[in-house]
Amino acid sequence: MTLREGNLDAPTRHPIDWRNPEFYDEGALFNEMERVFDICHGCRRCVSLCGAFPTLFELVDESKTMEVDGVAKADYWKVVDQCYLCDVCYMTKCPYVPPHPWNVDFPHLMLRGKAKKFVDGKTTFRDRLLTSTDRLGKLATIPVVVEMVNKANNAPAARRMMDRTLGIAQGAALPPYAKVPFLKNAATSLQWPARPGERTPGKVAIFATCYVNYNEPGIGRDLTKLLAHNEIPYALVEKEACCGMPKLELGDLESVEKLKDVNIPLLAPLARAGFAILTPVPSCTLMFKQELPLLFPEDEDVQAVADAMFDPFEYFVLRDRDGLLRKDFTQPLGAVSYHIPCHSRVQNVGQKTREALEWVPDTKVNTVERCAGHDGTWGVKSEFFATSMKIGKPVFNRMADPAPDYISSDCPIAGRRIEQGMDEAGNARVRKEHPLTLLRIAYGLD
Ligand code: SF4
Ligand code: SF4
Repeated sequence: MTLREGNLDAPTRHPIDWRNPEFYDEGALFNEMERVFDICHGCRRCVSLCGAFPTLFELVDESKTMEVDGVAKADYWKVVDQCYLCDVCYMTKCPYVPPHPWNVDFPHLMLRGKAKKFVDGKTTFRDRLLTSTDRLGKLATIPVVVEMVNKANNAPAARRMMDRTLGIAQGAALPPYAKVPFLKNAATSLQWPARPGERTPGKVAIFATCYVNYNEPGIGRDLTKLLAHNEIPYALVEKEACCGMPKLELGDLESVEKLKDVNIPLLAPLARAGFAILTPVPSCTLMFKQELPLLFPEDEDVQAVADAMFDPFEYFVLRDRDGLLRKDFTQPLGAVSYHIPCHSRVQNVGQKTREALEWVPDTKVNTVERCAGHDGTWGVKSEFFATSMKIGKPVFNRMADPAPDYISSDCPIAGRRIEQGMDEAGNARVRKEHPLTLLRIAYGLD
């Protein structure tokens, strides 16, 4: 059979067969890695995306045969470790994804490798700690503890010790914990009548996320202010748990299932009652929209939640197309350097945040669409921190030129990394705000 170069059909994605014993069989996994690595070696389109591909190609080029068959299987793990599951190779580069018969899904192959490492006990205490975002957040935001944690995260001696003993990079700026979590102070507000549009449900449920709840509650408050200004009734998802993305990135699929079993029974009734579900962190949105349906394809509640899930700016732009959004902006934003994170790009909803920021009069948006290198917990690990800053460097440079009034990213963690990279490159400090905060400022809301 002659195979054509690349796909003409829309990409599809196969469910992740993680309950099949073969998923964890080392021989079967190595065979699949060898097959896919060989295709990648012949293609090399993704060489500049991350550390995984250069690591693979270097192993091939330095092997005796200069082919994948010359690479020791034990070295395959080096490639797995460099992948942070951003999904960009699959969604934006690869012409061989299904339905192409070569069936290349590099990120999910790396996920399988991570899952194998996890069940074999090859993950560290540090990895398990960093991915327990919910538990960490609950502990760190206890009154008194919060001051101690924030102090320690900024104290050079404590950070040196964390680097040496835990493997958390001393140089990585860590986000402070909030004194009062978002969900403690925020309240459901259903005082307006729901006005459904052709493209948007008329009421919203907010899945706050661990990060907004424990680290930057102001982003959640700004989302509620935007909804209130537009008279969109909203409900909070009480007792939500982590979306499971950090555990997925660790390959801990049993924990992903446990978290799914907490969240989906809370979210599915809201989805079925006609709520749009908004999450202010793109990785969490992607988890519900894409990864959970692929992990649990038979679960109708998971699919109902995925169908109701929106990126907040996707919702606002569609709301505008429905003629149901106010655009009474009073404050220009000036020059905004705006970064689209990988997990927003791969949602395939277009540049909705840029579109919304450009509604604001006297506002010029410099859009930067490239990986900032933080990638969940990956970029704070001692062994990956330097590579992660290198990956982010082009973003840091482009965000600084032309000099902005604000820097912003849909991913608040990427936003912090960009701020750090720009600071270290000697740029003058500019205000960093989440796009939801920028829209709140533009409306003139306090
Ligand atoms: S998913 Fe992202 S990090 Fe992983 S190999 Fe693809 S581009 Fe690299
Ligand atoms: S993932 Fe696809 S595009 Fe990227 S190097 Fe491999 S075959 Fe080429």
